[in-house]
Amino acid sequence: MRRQRSLKIVATLGPASSTYETIKALFEAGADVFRLNMSHGSHEDIRTKHQIIRDIERDLGRPIGILADLQGPKLRCGVFANDTEDLAEGQDFRFDLDGTLGDAKRVNLPHKEIFAALEPNTTLLVNDGKIRLKVNECGPDFANCTVQVGGEISNRKGVNVPDVVLPVAALSEKDKADLEFACSLGVDWLALSFVQRPEDVTEARELADGRASLISKIEKPTAVENFDSILEVSDGIMVARGDLGVELPVYAVPPIQKRLIRACRAVGKPVIVATQMMESMIESPVPTRAEVSDVATAIYEGADAVMLSAESAMGDYAVEAVTTMDNVAKEVEGDPNYIKVIAASRTRSSATIPEAITLAAREIAETTDIKAICCFTESGSTAVLVSREKAMVPIIALTPNVGTARRLTLVWGLHTVVTNEVSRFKLAVVSAARAARRYKFAAEDDKIVVIAGVPFNTAGSTNILRVAPVDEKLIFASEAE
Ligand code: ATP
Ligand code: MG
Ligand code: MG
Repeated sequence: MRRQRSLKIVATLGPASSTYETIKALFEAGADVFRLNMSHGSHEDIRTKHQIIRDIERDLGRPIGILADLQGPKLRCGVFANDTEDLAEGQDFRFDLDGTLGDAKRVNLPHKEIFAALEPNTTLLVNDGKIRLKVNECGPDFANCTVQVGGEISNRKGVNVPDVVLPVAALSEKDKADLEFACSLGVDWLALSFVQRPEDVTEARELADGRASLISKIEKPTAVENFDSILEVSDGIMVARGDLGVELPVYAVPPIQKRLIRACRAVGKPVIVATQMMESMIESPVPTRAEVSDVATAIYEGADAVMLSAESAMGDYAVEAVTTMDNVAKEVEGDPNYIKVIAASRTRSSATIPEAITLAAREIAETTDIKAICCFTESGSTAVLVSREKAMVPIIALTPNVGTARRLTLVWGLHTVVTNEVSRFKLAVVSAARAARRYKFAAEDDKIVVIAGVPFNTAGSTNILRVAPVDEKLIFASEAE
């Protein structure tokens, strides 16, 4: 199985996508990475979903990425007796510290520090800013509000207080426990919510201790201000537009999205665009024109991945939402203008040998009839360099390390394949040729470009490039040894 696009798709799992059959259908429709949101669902629930993904991976024989998203210092309301309630404009609604189930008049808000900071007339926003309330009266354990903009409120929806700066630590006790749990299960990526400073990432990195790579979610104005130093210590970035569009004016988000994508492309770190990409598909089998255009914009900018949140977690059309993203990607990537836009926004690589080799691989592949660029990668760094070039030719990343193969499923353009350890370059060419044939990138009389670092097993040593035939007899005949 191979994708017909370079863009990657991340799908959040939730109640609408919790069975083997549905998750398999999401993968087959095009989801490359599954997101497990630690804010929702118990550890048992997360463990079950994790196991199902690994079962599907084994049954289909293709690496699948898993991203565990840590809640971070996000404020959330409690749980409702009926799971969900409709709030109407003008009605009263109360938040309090009472742990009992919520109803149409009140709900638990289990954060003492909010009540201490509230004042009459403060604005509260719920569910990525969809519901707006104004505080009338408050005390140390309650806030009576008037609904200014109504809507549906449901279990554990996020609450923002944009006018008030709350003193919060980057990783709560829950986050630390969730991080340890996710790492012990084995996840490929950890997403850190509400990162504000590079130190927040360093703290998580110490706890993860090499067991997962780290994505910083940019959703705070301070994270935007400190972006360069955060990017430096992160392995990837998520443009988390939900909270970002609440914490900042919503029209500030598109220029930030563009800036973040370009900065990530320049340094070769994967970037995910997230939130409300196909929002109307929670309830509708077809997206709005604006949503299709939004996904297309992220692709034209060169984002590595686009993400589905509630659409795949609790929507009625989870599989259709993935299929729609897949179709948008195929269409955009087939547009001659896409190639021009990507080429025009490419940045120069630095003067290292691996970067010179990956640049040469792209130029050879694009100017002659080469079917794929194949690279051997231990840690994944060579494959990421190849991806950074954004060649208009498929890229096959071969690695003996299953963890690397899974992690790279998030990265633009990479078709990852787990191979045996190879000790000699000739054997590397043979296994690249086999992978190119097996996944139908190339036929018997085609050619591929193979790059690797020799001797093998030293990270960042890419120093060899060969244009090789796919036909095994010709590979051996062309060996000058
Ligand atoms: P975040 O800020 O981390 O994105 P979120 O609350 O927006 O948090 P998403 O993962 O984006 O969560 O999913 C969107 C919505 O889907 C959630 O608000 C929640 O209502 C629902 N959802 C997601 N995962 C689950 C789950 N495992 N169980 C129940 N509901 C879920
Ligand atoms: Mg968020
Ligand atoms: Mg969300």
